[in-house]
Amino acid sequence: MQIQSNIKKIHDDIGDAAQKSGRDGSRVTLIAVSKKKPPEMIQQAIEAGHRDFGENYIQEAMEKIDLLGRESATWHFIGHLQSNKAKFAVKYFDLIHTVDTVKLAREIHRQAQKIGKIQEILLQVNIARETTKSGAEENEIVDLAKQICRFDHLHVSGLMCMPPFFDDAEDTRVYFKRLKQISKEIEALNLPNTAMTHLSMGMSNDFIVAVEEGATLVRVGTAIFGERV
Ligand SMILES: *Cc1c(COP(=O)(O)O)cnc(C)c1O
Repeated sequence: MQIQSNIKKIHDDIGDAAQKSGRDGSRVTLIAVSKKKPPEMIQQAIEAGHRDFGENYIQEAMEKIDLLGRESATWHFIGHLQSNKAKFAVKYFDLIHTVDTVKLAREIHRQAQKIGKIQEILLQVNIARETTKSGAEENEIVDLAKQICRFDHLHVSGLMCMPPFFDDAEDTRVYFKRLKQISKEIEALNLPNTAMTHLSMGMSNDFIVAVEEGATLVRVGTAIFGERV
């Protein structure tokens, strides 16, 4: 019951934020981030009608997805992906949000080609240039997009970022604006196998600001499933 009401509350907040900024709230997908949470909690959300889930760790995700069913939901990979796990990411996930090198893209492409899949991916940008975070640097991202668009078993459908945590969500606004600007720059290049449809940005503490700035995918964990231990 709690999970269901949390999801409803977030949908309402997304709707309000979208309306405030002249957007259509139904175009924003809420991804319930279920990392470190048991499959029973995901099942509850599925039964409440929720479709999109985000996971960070391949091994943990595979166990849960096998249990719940690959087709029971849309699965988003949002963690750091090592090339040697690309095979599993391709097998289990509808959208991989965290591609940040040509090497990783090439391996995902190779694995997708093997099973005849066009893998949908996002390019992750290290928007605040934090040494502790993954993602391509802003000055590398155009070049990365140009190289990755040659892989015809990949479809690049947008950008993802994870700004620093601030107590005041307003402080993240500048980073969300910047990600949107970069996506426009890439869109203008008209690259093959590429469409800047999605901006994956916003988490429990700042998804409202992200929606105001154009997020199409928000990734919310704590505000749905509670604190992680
Ligand atoms: C854990 C995680 C989230 C969700 O964070 P919350 O603060 O719990 O909402 C979103 N995105 C990524 C990439 C994450 O690793």
